[in-house]
Amino acid sequence: MKAFIACLGTETNTFSPIPTGLRNFQDTMLYHGDATRAPADLHTAPLIVWRELAAADGDEVVESLATFAQPAGITVRKVYEALRDEILTDLKAALPVDLVLLNMHGAMVADGYDDCEGDLLARCREVAGTDAVIGGELDLHCSITPEMRAAADALVSYKEYPHIDTKERAAELYAICRDAKLGKTTPVMAVHDCRMVSTWRTPVEPMKTFVARMHALEGRDGILSISFGHGFPWGDVPCVTARMLVIADGDKKKAEDLARQLGQEVWAMRQETAPVTMPYKEALSRAAAAAAGPVVVADIADNAGGGAPSDSTFLLQEILDTGLSDNISGLYWDPLAIRLCKEAGVGARLNLRIGGKCCRESGIPVDLDVTVKGIIENATQPFGSVTQQMGDAVWLQAAGNVNLVLNFIRGQTFHPDAFSQFGIDLASLKIIIPKSSQHFYAGFAPIAAEVIYATSPGTLNMDFANLPFTKLATPFWPNVEDPFKS
Ligand SMILES: [Zn+2]
Repeated sequence: MKAFIACLGTETNTFSPIPTGLRNFQDTMLYHGDATRAPADLHTAPLIVWRELAAADGDEVVESLATFAQPAGITVRKVYEALRDEILTDLKAALPVDLVLLNMHGAMVADGYDDCEGDLLARCREVAGTDAVIGGELDLHCSITPEMRAAADALVSYKEYPHIDTKERAAELYAICRDAKLGKTTPVMAVHDCRMVSTWRTPVEPMKTFVARMHALEGRDGILSISFGHGFPWGDVPCVTARMLVIADGDKKKAEDLARQLGQEVWAMRQETAPVTMPYKEALSRAAAAAAGPVVVADIADNAGGGAPSDSTFLLQEILDTGLSDNISGLYWDPLAIRLCKEAGVGARLNLRIGGKCCRESGIPVDLDVTVKGIIENATQPFGSVTQQMGDAVWLQAAGNVNLVLNFIRGQTFHPDAFSQFGIDLASLKIIIPKSSQHFYAGFAPIAAEVIYATSPGTLNMDFANLPFTKLATPFWPNVEDPFKS
């Protein structure tokens, strides 16, 4: 058997003004056929799993492009088309292939393409033919479209947010596709549109039990796989709402019934699962007054992982305005400030203009007297079992033990190591502010006296009911109370 593997993706926040161009793909992750020879990161890990499984089965692997851009605004059209066409050219050269396995995001939008994954899958089908089995792995923040479903034999999304199960889902997709090619199974997919726009945190109840329930239903009674596509709220696309996807073995009705049933269960939990957030000024004041620390105040509106600039200054300005001490915030994406700090060196005292540079949602820059306490070139941070690049990183300290970490490659704060690798004792601080919506949770929760999700002006507006969608044709909750009532 011959498997063709590739990765192309980003999560597009159509409300973000930052364009996604080739430089973003280059900075984040770009391999031309050799990604599996490098250490795994979040998006190459599935390809590495597929190569290992194929090798164990004695199968041949043809590896194509593997690239991913840090989430931002709409992808530049010619950039998307060039990356897509590289995969298609490689696929054509590899023919005939038995399996096409693509690692994608599921919420990628390019200029002229609301559904990049649907486009990529359809074109792969055209090239590979109907005999090939085509499978796609998706982030759970995906918009599952009819085009994706029509072109693929199997789609499997992560179940966990934070996304700690990318490798397991890759192995699951591989097994489903290989069994299908061998004629052992006939995967059929059904999708139920929950008509909901929200976010769901899977480490906490009731989602924790729901995820366990999805696992328990798989692998028996003809159910091959269950995915809950949460949707990505900040994509103005026709299929933005959450969708339940079930793959059954040959029985379409069984897949449809279970997708609808599980979708209704998610609907029934909507009040319990709705994200609990707090305005940032209130969050910081509560954290400062806490009897025990550190309190983790997540700056969720400036999460680069959702397309935000990661240089907003709203929380920093509030810290300075109210004189809060013993805190750390980051990661601020500020290449210019990093350049100045590197030029000055460790120990230098500077009046530095920090953040607030990318766009209106960044707020205004903050001018601060700081000491350069540390510089780490090509820093990394762990995320689950993989390593994420931070680029050059700088630790700054201002009066009142106000600490900041700036980094060169725009990205969210996944793990306490993003800060503590400088030798900073996080346990001694009162407030820790990672710029992240949820991925911070796995690493930071164990060291936190409390975790608060703080809202602020920014690109990731949590007021789901009033997001300015223009392409969604159906009503959705929480914009209306019951989107199924006509
Ligand atoms: Zn995601």
